[in-house]
Amino acid sequence: MAELNLLQKKIMADGRIISGDILKVDSFLNHQIDVPFISELGKIFKELFADRPINKILTIEASGIGVACLTAVHMRVPVVFAKKSAGSNMDAEVYSTEIKSFTHNKVNHVVVSQKYLNGGDHILIIDDFLANGCAVQGLIDLVDQAGGTVEGVGICIEKGFQGGGDALRARGINLKSLAIIEKMDAKSGKIVFR
Ligand code: 5GP
Repeated sequence: MAELNLLQKKIMADGRIISGDILKVDSFLNHQIDVPFISELGKIFKELFADRPINKILTIEASGIGVACLTAVHMRVPVVFAKKSAGSNMDAEVYSTEIKSFTHNKVNHVVVSQKYLNGGDHILIIDDFLANGCAVQGLIDLVDQAGGTVEGVGICIEKGFQGGGDALRARGINLKSLAIIEKMDAKSGKIVFR
């Protein structure tokens, strides 16, 4: 068996499987953030997408923001995060889409100001998790509305058994996931990586 990579080791040490299909990584990624560790992941994303002319990172609030920013520090580009509700201080001109939330089982209306996404943008989409792929598909939709180019999608933890990643790959999306979980079992705590 191949040696586990940095993130796979961390998941084995600190991850907790909640029910059949939710992995909790609250101690380093989703609630408390292990900044030096996530910054190492950011460095890896920079290397993985070094051949692409990326000028901006796009993510979605809230849990994508940390890893997006810690990638942007290495890539020296700005981060834009899609907002789940248009507050009263939001610009009137927005791109918008609907994203079904995997963890909260509801549909979020998601917006980005037209000021911060445009036709000349070469975007790297970053997120913490990929499950059914709704979040990433919604973010791609926002980039398409702006006329920009999606250069790649970088995901920390892809749950391969939920199929969202393979559907994106089948569409020709340049998707790179740092850890792909093929199987996990809440009872035994066993995790199998692809
Ligand atoms: P998708 O849209 O691909 O179905 O789900 C991805 C989104 O749902 C991510 O933005 C992430 O916040 C959340 N998510 C999906 N699966 C998990 C999980 O197992 N654990 C955690 N903490 N978040 C998840």
